[in-house]
Amino acid sequence: MSGWEKYVRNVSPYIPGEQPRDKNLIKLNTNENPYPPSPKVEEFLRGFDYRFLRKYPEPNVSELRAALAKYHAIESDMVFVGVGSDDVLGMSFLTFFNSKKPVLFADITYSFYDVWAELFGISYKKVPLKDDFTLDVSDYCIENGGIVIANPNAPTGLALGISDIRRVLDANRDSVVIVDEAYVDFGAESALPLIREYDNLLVCRTFSKSRALAGSRIGYAMGGKKLISCLLAVRNSYNSYTIDSVSGGIALAAISDDAYFKDGIEKIIKTRERTKEKLRELGFSFPDSKANFVFASHKDKKAADIYEKLRAKSIYVRYFNKPGIDNYLRITIGTDEEMDALFAALSEIL
Ligand SMILES: *Cc1c(COP(=O)(O)O)cnc(C)c1O
Repeated sequence: MSGWEKYVRNVSPYIPGEQPRDKNLIKLNTNENPYPPSPKVEEFLRGFDYRFLRKYPEPNVSELRAALAKYHAIESDMVFVGVGSDDVLGMSFLTFFNSKKPVLFADITYSFYDVWAELFGISYKKVPLKDDFTLDVSDYCIENGGIVIANPNAPTGLALGISDIRRVLDANRDSVVIVDEAYVDFGAESALPLIREYDNLLVCRTFSKSRALAGSRIGYAMGGKKLISCLLAVRNSYNSYTIDSVSGGIALAAISDDAYFKDGIEKIIKTRERTKEKLRELGFSFPDSKANFVFASHKDKKAADIYEKLRAKSIYVRYFNKPGIDNYLRITIGTDEEMDALFAALSEIL
């Protein structure tokens, strides 16, 4: 071992889903949107003058923050933007979770939360979900150094109502509560209306899923002005230019096309509900997902086997070899054609 190696920060990184190169396979493993982004995005890219890249982006991201604020009927200084919501969430952990008391999040949830906590040396406690994957709000009404709730949760797809989020907030006036709404557009209730009432509530969103822009890395958070100014101070102590000039323009173009956005969501929800029916017929059971994926377990076939057999047929879904969820597959909702191919493959396998 070289001398410097003992000074290296030891980490166990987050492992993202596979991004295979083969374009012919059916990719239902990372919750990407099966449809392209708004045509307004194409229009922006075609019109973009590459010479503009000579300059740094505008550091306050004023135009995009104003557009997001207008869209959500809040003010610009209640919006923070970052390089995907992973950046926003990581920055939020670093900013708000600086207590000795443990930060609370579910044992089955987005698996980046404990990675950030470990990286930043934040104390945390995983709170077990109930056997049916539902979350008991009273588990979050104990002393803590912060709370993170993915709503809808990943990978289960289950969503809490706003009254449950309110209960968590009422019991936790003295710690920051982050609600990760990566999938909220697919039919769950947002906590956004509560940000004016609770100065400790941060709501995180992403353009990666519902707006079909995972390749562009755009995420944002909304909260009270004080909360947002704390985030900006930490961000500006680390990297002052996050959203690049191209992504900034892409985000503005996407947000300007609400009709396209709503239409895309509607299609995915329709396909999701049809997928639930088909999966049930095939012998699967699953929590009632409000996201763009279904977390399904088969009555007699092992998830690991189904996963491998689908893979052999060039259909990729997500399998987590972790206690409590190792007999489930997380299946992203694709186009109707992709889902039909999945059902056909499953009929052969099962
Ligand atoms: C996909 C996802 C994110 C990250 O989204 P990006 O904006 O692509 O970084 C955050 N939280 C959850 C629960 C997600 O599923």
